[in-house]
Amino acid sequence: MMNKIKIGWKEFDIEHIEKEKARLNVVSGDCYGEIHFDKNKIYLNNEFSDEQKQATLIHEVLHGICI
Ligand SMILES: [Zn+2]
Repeated sequence: MMNKIKIGWKEFDIEHIEKEKARLNVVSGDCYGEIHFDKNKIYLNNEFSDEQKQATLIHEVLHGICI
């Protein structure tokens, strides 16, 4: 899976993280992922399959486009 993605002019790092290692409220509950504009990062919950993470990535990219 890709580890970087450019949305418009901004490049985001894609990180797969464990729920336990989550900082902030990342991946709390059944959250599949998050996008952080200040850190230029997209976090994907590593508890889920690659297929789910691909879908989550698309979801987060849409947030990135629509802010
Ligand atoms: Zn969302």
